[in-house]
Amino acid sequence: MNMNKKSKDVRLIEEGYITVIAGPCAIESMEQLDTIAGIVKESGLSFLRAGAYKPRTSPYSFQGLEHKGLEMLKEIGDKYGLYTTTEVTDAETVEEVAKYVDILQIGTRNMSNFALLKKVGVVANKFNRKVILKRGWAATIREWLLAVEYITSKGDAEVILCERGIRTFEPYTRFTLDLSAVPVIKNISKLPIIIDPSHAVGQSDLVIPMSRAAIAVGADGLIVEIHNEPEKALCDGQQALDIKQTQEMLHQVSIIASMLGKKLR
Ligand code: PEP
Ligand code: MN
Repeated sequence: MNMNKKSKDVRLIEEGYITVIAGPCAIESMEQLDTIAGIVKESGLSFLRAGAYKPRTSPYSFQGLEHKGLEMLKEIGDKYGLYTTTEVTDAETVEEVAKYVDILQIGTRNMSNFALLKKVGVVANKFNRKVILKRGWAATIREWLLAVEYITSKGDAEVILCERGIRTFEPYTRFTLDLSAVPVIKNISKLPIIIDPSHAVGQSDLVIPMSRAAIAVGADGLIVEIHNEPEKALCDGQQALDIKQTQEMLHQVSIIASMLGKKLR
């Protein structure tokens, strides 16, 4: 069953819209991904996130379903007519990943992996894929923008910046969400920028307020971790919004968006 044919030329960011990308941290099973994709679709959204290769801080944590996960993501994305994004973690697997998803995500731990960035530039150009480049948690804005150029020097892929929190001395949140990066980026570049409140704050009760703030400060979109059973999640369950919280987040964010003359998509 294919609920909605995807247009090949969709842009991740559209004038007048706030793009909300939602989904689990990691693909855990077909059933889990199917359920969460159904929630994303029913919420009126078009973009599904889900990790297949998980670069975990601890080598003893769940590392992702890898190739099997990519296959599941492709199948579920097609079933619901959702655009998909997943993380690419090394240069060797970029081409394999690009065959299965619409948007390649470069995680915070790899923002300065220049061999990976160059490879992503080449592959994104070849397969007409978009690229989300997360900010390294210890990278300055200037270093982040130079990282973009490693990608764009190899083609003309659409690159979207993603602020996901930087490391500071403050332990109450997992990282510190640098919301001022949004107006700074708007002042000095033409690149779109989205916010990942989930990895920044690291706990679900802080995700909604920071999502509201992200839209108010002028971000073009959000990438948010959601889960049908956060307490059973194999990865980052503590920061995932459950179904009710997801609806509440979308409701609150849509109010802020409408004040700015924007709609959610
Ligand atoms: C993720 O999006 O699942 C992720 C690992 O994010 P980050 O690279 O920002 O930690
Ligand atoms: Mn995560």
